[in-house]
Amino acid sequence: MRNKAGVLRRGFTGCSRPGVCGLDNSGNSCYLNAVLQCLCSTVPLVEHLLNKDTRKESKCRVAEVFVRLLEEMWLGRSPSCAPVEARSVLCSILPQFNNYSQQDAQELLLSLLNALHDDLKKHPRSGQKQSCATDAGESTIVSHLFEGQLSYMTLCMHCDHQAHSTQTFTVLSLPIPKTIKCSIQDCLSLFFEHTILTGGEQMLCSICGQRRETAVVTSLEKPPEILMLHLKRFGCKGKNQVKLRTNVLFSVKLNLIPFLSSSVENISHYSYSLYAVVNHTGNLNMGHYTALCRSALTGTWHCFDDSAVMEVHDSHVQSPNAYMLMYSRKPFQKPKINGL
Ligand SMILES: [Zn+2]
Repeated sequence: MRNKAGVLRRGFTGCSRPGVCGLDNSGNSCYLNAVLQCLCSTVPLVEHLLNKDTRKESKCRVAEVFVRLLEEMWLGRSPSCAPVEARSVLCSILPQFNNYSQQDAQELLLSLLNALHDDLKKHPRSGQKQSCATDAGESTIVSHLFEGQLSYMTLCMHCDHQAHSTQTFTVLSLPIPKTIKCSIQDCLSLFFEHTILTGGEQMLCSICGQRRETAVVTSLEKPPEILMLHLKRFGCKGKNQVKLRTNVLFSVKLNLIPFLSSSVENISHYSYSLYAVVNHTGNLNMGHYTALCRSALTGTWHCFDDSAVMEVHDSHVQSPNAYMLMYSRKPFQKPKINGL
């Protein structure tokens, strides 16, 4: 049992706080547990899924099982629970996770959100049934919260022809500068850096009718409600897989204004607040995932290391182990959940 500095209180005193619940490890499942903790702390998602109407209509396996787990974590009395059902359903629909080896938390998070989105799409809530035939039928709480849009402006370096395109995203995978220490703003600047595509990357210009050197300007066209940032720590050096251990500094507030597209209105609304972090320690194959989440009920941070839960001081949220950061556009209010 570790005794880290900064630990204020251990969470397994027999009673638990709503939404602060450890998850038992079922054999190398720390990546799943860390991801589930982050989702469990995403208040608007939890409020929506634990709403009475949604609960009644969550008849699809992924949504149903996820809702049951959230119920246990928010409304149960136990300091930890076993996400056995969630794991087995995930393994059945996502066979790539059906083994006991270490997996990538970011890939799992994306797959899990996709599965949840597909599931909720099949079962629109009764009030939304009429809009099903329209585009609105494709939207779910998952897309509403997590989806954003990037805008690309491409410029032909030969004839100056400009073209625009957009792309939807759920997670921004950020490159890390090759330094010992940098800030999350440095990673974002690198992601949104203007680039020139040359050689084999040249794009076809519709005016020139051939591939040309192309300048690409990326910006954030639609910032999401919940912004998920993934630090690209894992890469290859020749045949070897390597992990970048750069200490990426981040703070609780994130300013996205420098990266917004000129079409975004009310830019002052885009200051984000950090509410969850996935940490990764160790190396690629022998690593361990934990999560740090801020409780919307108490405003305090907890470290979730599988079934062990520790309250930690705000100053311990920053660490060189950060792998994913989750920010919310609107600070979370105390959750409104039936039965809480
Ligand atoms: Zn051209």
